[in-house]
Amino acid sequence: MNETEQLNRLRASSLKVTPKRLEMYAYLSEEDRYISAKEVLEYMRDKHPTMSFDTVYRNLKSFAEEGLLEATELDGEKSFRVTCSAAHHHHHLICRSCGKTKLLDLCPMRFVEALDPEFEVVDHKFEIYGYCKECKQKGLI
Ligand SMILES: [Zn+2]
Ligand SMILES: [Zn+2]
Ligand SMILES: [Zn+2]
Repeated sequence: MNETEQLNRLRASSLKVTPKRLEMYAYLSEEDRYISAKEVLEYMRDKHPTMSFDTVYRNLKSFAEEGLLEATELDGEKSFRVTCSAAHHHHHLICRSCGKTKLLDLCPMRFVEALDPEFEVVDHKFEIYGYCKECKQKGLI
Protein backbone atom coordinates (compact mmCIF):
# COMPACT_ATOMS: atom_id res chain seq x y z
CA MET A 1 0.00 0.00 0.00
CA ASN A 2 1.52 3.35 -0.98
CA GLU A 3 1.29 6.64 0.91
CA THR A 4 -1.71 7.88 -1.05
CA GLU A 5 -3.63 4.71 -0.27
CA GLN A 6 -2.70 4.95 3.39
CA LEU A 7 -3.93 8.51 3.51
CA ASN A 8 -7.12 7.66 1.64
CA ARG A 9 -7.92 4.85 4.03
CA LEU A 10 -7.43 7.12 7.02
CA ARG A 11 -9.51 9.86 5.44
CA ALA A 12 -12.33 7.43 4.72
CA SER A 13 -12.53 6.58 8.41
CA SER A 14 -14.18 8.71 11.06
CA LEU A 15 -10.81 9.40 12.70
CA LYS A 16 -9.12 12.74 12.45
CA VAL A 17 -6.01 12.41 10.29
CA THR A 18 -3.01 13.58 12.30
CA PRO A 19 0.69 13.32 11.38
CA LYS A 20 1.26 10.83 14.22
CA ARG A 21 -1.63 8.62 13.17
CA LEU A 22 -0.38 8.69 9.61
CA GLU A 23 3.12 7.76 10.78
CA MET A 24 1.79 4.87 12.81
CA TYR A 25 -0.34 3.59 9.99
CA ALA A 26 2.51 3.89 7.49
CA TYR A 27 4.75 1.86 9.78
CA LEU A 28 2.19 -0.92 10.12
CA SER A 29 1.57 -0.83 6.40
CA GLU A 30 5.28 -1.21 5.61
CA GLU A 31 5.79 -4.05 8.09
CA ASP A 32 2.81 -5.99 6.77
CA ARG A 33 2.79 -8.47 9.66
CA TYR A 34 1.27 -8.64 13.11
CA ILE A 35 3.11 -6.25 15.42
CA SER A 36 2.51 -5.86 19.13
CA ALA A 37 1.50 -2.48 20.55
CA LYS A 38 4.87 -2.48 22.35
CA GLU A 39 6.76 -2.69 19.05
CA VAL A 40 4.70 0.15 17.62
CA LEU A 41 5.49 2.20 20.72
CA GLU A 42 9.23 1.54 20.34
CA TYR A 43 9.08 2.73 16.74
CA MET A 44 7.07 5.85 17.59
CA ARG A 45 9.26 6.72 20.58
CA ASP A 46 12.26 7.10 18.31
CA LYS A 47 10.68 10.26 16.95
CA HIS A 48 8.34 11.15 19.78
CA PRO A 49 10.12 10.25 23.04
CA THR A 50 7.22 11.36 25.24
CA MET A 51 4.58 9.24 23.56
CA SER A 52 2.90 6.91 26.03
CA PHE A 53 1.84 3.30 25.66
CA ASP A 54 -1.75 4.33 26.32
CA THR A 55 -1.76 6.76 23.43
CA VAL A 56 -0.35 4.19 21.05
CA TYR A 57 -2.72 1.50 22.26
CA ARG A 58 -5.76 3.76 22.07
CA ASN A 59 -4.92 4.70 18.50
CA LEU A 60 -4.35 1.11 17.45
CA LYS A 61 -7.70 0.16 18.96
CA SER A 62 -9.48 2.97 17.12
CA PHE A 63 -7.80 1.89 13.89
CA ALA A 64 -9.07 -1.64 14.45
CA GLU A 65 -12.59 -0.40 15.26
CA GLU A 66 -12.57 1.54 12.01
CA GLY A 67 -11.53 -1.55 10.07
CA LEU A 68 -8.13 -0.06 9.21
CA LEU A 69 -6.31 -2.72 11.20
CA GLU A 70 -6.93 -6.32 12.12
CA ALA A 71 -6.22 -7.38 15.66
CA THR A 72 -5.29 -10.71 17.18
CA GLU A 73 -3.56 -12.05 20.22
CA LEU A 74 -0.03 -13.41 19.80
CA ASP A 75 1.89 -14.69 22.82
CA GLY A 76 -0.74 -13.11 25.04
CA GLU A 77 -0.14 -9.69 23.52
CA LYS A 78 -2.62 -7.79 21.45
CA SER A 79 -1.10 -7.45 17.97
CA PHE A 80 -2.16 -5.49 14.93
CA ARG A 81 -1.68 -5.52 11.19
CA VAL A 82 -3.05 -3.54 8.28
CA THR A 83 -6.33 -4.94 6.97
CA CYS A 84 -5.75 -6.73 3.68
CA SER A 85 -7.04 -5.26 0.52
CA ALA A 86 -8.12 -8.64 -0.89
CA ALA A 87 -11.78 -8.01 -1.56
CA HIS A 88 -13.03 -11.58 -1.32
CA HIS A 89 -13.74 -13.30 1.98
CA HIS A 90 -10.78 -15.25 3.32
CA HIS A 91 -8.86 -16.20 6.43
CA HIS A 92 -5.23 -16.27 7.54
CA LEU A 93 -2.46 -18.56 8.64
CA ILE A 94 -0.50 -16.57 11.23
CA CYS A 95 3.14 -17.19 12.16
CA ARG A 96 3.60 -17.03 15.91
CA SER A 97 7.25 -16.18 15.54
CA CYS A 98 7.39 -13.33 13.00
CA GLY A 99 3.71 -12.36 12.82
CA LYS A 100 3.58 -12.74 9.03
CA THR A 101 0.34 -14.00 7.59
CA LYS A 102 -0.60 -16.11 4.64
CA LEU A 103 -3.93 -15.95 2.89
CA LEU A 104 -6.06 -19.01 3.35
CA ASP A 105 -8.62 -19.29 0.61
CA LEU A 106 -11.09 -21.30 2.59
CA CYS A 107 -13.92 -20.56 4.97
CA PRO A 108 -15.02 -23.22 7.43
CA MET A 109 -18.36 -21.52 8.04
CA ARG A 110 -20.21 -23.53 5.43
CA PHE A 111 -19.52 -26.62 7.53
CA VAL A 112 -20.47 -24.91 10.79
CA GLU A 113 -23.67 -23.37 9.49
CA ALA A 114 -24.91 -26.78 8.47
CA LEU A 115 -24.55 -27.99 12.06
CA ASP A 116 -27.05 -25.47 13.49
CA PRO A 117 -29.37 -24.09 10.81
CA GLU A 118 -31.45 -22.26 13.43
CA PHE A 119 -28.61 -20.08 14.59
CA GLU A 120 -28.27 -16.92 12.56
CA VAL A 121 -24.56 -16.21 12.08
CA VAL A 122 -23.76 -12.52 11.72
CA ASP A 123 -19.98 -12.61 11.98
CA HIS A 124 -17.14 -14.99 12.59
CA LYS A 125 -13.41 -15.14 13.18
CA PHE A 126 -11.16 -17.99 12.18
CA GLU A 127 -7.38 -17.90 12.49
CA ILE A 128 -4.77 -20.62 12.29
CA TYR A 129 -1.53 -20.21 14.24
CA GLY A 130 1.76 -21.90 13.50
CA TYR A 131 5.26 -21.24 12.21
CA CYS A 132 6.12 -20.13 8.69
CA LYS A 133 8.69 -21.81 6.45
CA GLU A 134 11.23 -18.97 6.92
CA CYS A 135 11.09 -19.10 10.72
CA LYS A 136 11.44 -22.86 10.68
CA GLN A 137 14.45 -22.67 8.34
CA LYS A 138 16.12 -20.01 10.45
CA GLY A 139 15.72 -22.31 13.41
CA LEU A 140 13.86 -19.60 15.29
CA ILE A 141 11.46 -22.08 16.76
ZN1 LIG B 1 -6.00 -11.29 4.11
ZN1 LIG C 1 7.48 -16.64 10.65
ZN1 LIG D 1 -14.94 -17.15 6.79
